[in-house]
Amino acid sequence: MYRTNTCGELNSSNIQQQVCLCGWVQRIRNLGGMTFIDLRDRYGITQLAFNMNTNAELCEQARKLGREYVIQVKGKVVERFNKNKSIPTGDIEIDVTEINILNASKLPPFTIEDHTDGGDELRMQYRYLDLRRNTVLKNMVFRHQLAIETRNYLNQLDFLEIETPFLIRSTPEGARDFVVPSRLNIGQFYALPQSPQQFKQLLMIAGMDKYFQIVRCFRDEDLRADRQPEFTQIDCEMAFVTQEDVIQLFENLFIHLFKKLKNIELNNFERISYHNAMKRYGSDKPDMRFDMQFVELNHLLQHRDFKIFNEAELIIGICAKGCGSYTRKQIDELTDFVKRPQIGASGLVYVQCLDNNTFKSSVDKFYTQEDLQNLAAAFNATSGDLLLILSGKTEKTRKALGELRLEMGNRLNLRDKEHFKAVWVVDFPMFEWDEETQRFYAKHHPFTSPKPEDVALLDSGDIAKINANAYDLVINGVEVGGGSIRIHDRDLQKKIFRTLGFSESEAQQQFGFLMNAFEYGAPPHGGIAFGFDRMCAVFNGIDSIRDFIAFPKNNLGRDVMINAPYQISNEQLKELSIQINYSEKDE
Ligand code: ASP
Repeated sequence: MYRTNTCGELNSSNIQQQVCLCGWVQRIRNLGGMTFIDLRDRYGITQLAFNMNTNAELCEQARKLGREYVIQVKGKVVERFNKNKSIPTGDIEIDVTEINILNASKLPPFTIEDHTDGGDELRMQYRYLDLRRNTVLKNMVFRHQLAIETRNYLNQLDFLEIETPFLIRSTPEGARDFVVPSRLNIGQFYALPQSPQQFKQLLMIAGMDKYFQIVRCFRDEDLRADRQPEFTQIDCEMAFVTQEDVIQLFENLFIHLFKKLKNIELNNFERISYHNAMKRYGSDKPDMRFDMQFVELNHLLQHRDFKIFNEAELIIGICAKGCGSYTRKQIDELTDFVKRPQIGASGLVYVQCLDNNTFKSSVDKFYTQEDLQNLAAAFNATSGDLLLILSGKTEKTRKALGELRLEMGNRLNLRDKEHFKAVWVVDFPMFEWDEETQRFYAKHHPFTSPKPEDVALLDSGDIAKINANAYDLVINGVEVGGGSIRIHDRDLQKKIFRTLGFSESEAQQQFGFLMNAFEYGAPPHGGIAFGFDRMCAVFNGIDSIRDFIAFPKNNLGRDVMINAPYQISNEQLKELSIQINYSEKDE
C-alpha cells in the first residue's frame, strides 16, 4: 500500500494516528533545528516535520530532497505549534519517521505555486507541471463537476447520450473544416465535425427523442482567447418541441448548474429580440449586468450646422453616470479607444452635464445650451453625467458604441464577475448578407427553420426580413450557446438551399442523406448546443477558455508541448498519395 491518506484530509481529529502519505515536495524550509516540507498532492498540502535533535539522519535526508521529488513518508500525526488557518490540514503536521524517494525530479522550469514565475509559453510547454498548480487544478475539477452535473440532470430528464462519428464529410457551409486524408480511399478526405448537427437531426428521425452529447468539435478558424481549434459542446436535440420548450428546459438546466456549482440563484432570464439587442446595446450578445442603453438622437442633432451629424445615417449615444467630471485626458483616452482600428469610429462627441443645467461639449459651436439640455433630457441625464455620442453607418456605429459601452461598464465597475445575468436573444434574422462574396448565408445554419409566418417571404422577395426560429443564450455578454427549431420538411429544406445559392444537384450531393431522411417520417425537432469550455470560463468570471482545457493550443493552433502539428514521414505521405516535397533541412 502506497498511502493511508491523501495530503488534503488530515486534521486534529487524526492526531496520534500513524499514517503514510505520498506526494510531491512543494517546499523545503530548513530552520536549523527543524526542517519542514510541504507535501502536495491533488487534494492539498500537508506539512512534514523533521527534528534535527531527535533524528539528525532523517532530517539530513529531508534537506537533500529537491522540489517536485515524489516521496512517500511514514509518521505520526501531531498537533502543530504554529497553526495555519488558511488550509484544512493547517492544525497538524506529520512527525516523520521514514522517507522513501519514489522518484527524483529535475528542478522545474517555473515555481509550482498559485503565483508562478512561469510565462505562458513555458507553462504550456510543461503543461503537466502547470496542471499541478492549484489554480489550474481547481479549473479541471470545476470542469469535471460541470460535466457530471449536466449529465445527471439531462439523464434524469430521459436524454440519451449518443456518440456520433468524428470522421465525416466536409460541408461547404459554416467555418473551415479540418480534413483527414483517407488511405483506403485515395484522393478522398474525411472532415472532422464542426458540430454533430446533421447526425443529431438524424437521431431524431431515428426516434431517439432526446439526445445529448458532451462532444469535441473542430473548426479551422483564426484563434482568440475564447476560441480553440478543438473545443467541447454540450450538444442537445429533442423531438416534438417548440422553441419555448427548448428555452424552458435549458433555462432550468442553467438555474440548476448555477445553484449546484456556485450556490447562486440565477433567476429572471430576460428575453430580447436580435433587433432590439442591436438597437439598444449594439451587440447580439449584450452584457445585461448594467443598463446604459443606447439613445437614438437623429431627431435632436440633425439639421443644425454640424455636417458630420447631418450626413450620418445614425446618431446614438450613451450616458455614463457620474463621469461628467472626466478630465480632458480621460476623454482623449475614450476617443482613442473608439478610433482604434478594431472599433473604427472616426471620432467621439461628448457632452458634460455640469451644475445648474449647464453643459460643456465638443460641439458647443453648433448647439445651444438649450439644445444640449434637450439632449440631456433624452438620456434622463442629471448633473455630473457624461454623454458619449457616435455617428455614421447604422451597423458600424452600433457596434462601435457597443464596445464603448462595455469599456464604460469596465471603468465604472459595472461588470462584476460575481454577478450573473442571463438573457435569451431570440428572433434572429434567418439570413445574413456577405459583402465579400455577394450572397446570403444562413445566420445560424441552413437547417434552421424560418418563423412560420415568414415562410411566404422565401418566395416573394425580401428574404432579409425573414426571422428564424433560433435562439442564443448569453450570460454576462458571452454567447454560451445557441440553437434552433429545425426544418423537417424536404421541400422547405430544398427551398432554403436554393436561397443560399445551391443548385438542386449540389444540394442533393451535399445534403442528400438528410433530405432523403426527411421523407421517412421526420418528426418536428429542435435543439441547442452550448460551448462547454466557455461555460466553464463564464461561470468563473474568466476570459480565457484555455484555463479550463487540460492541453490547449496556442494562438497559432499549436500544441507546444507535443509540438503539433508536425510533418509526417515520407512513407505516410506515400501511403496517402500526398505529394509534398519536404526539403532536406525540414526533415
Ligand atoms: N450545431 C449548432 C452549433 O454548433 C447548434 C445547434 O443548432 O444546436 O452552433
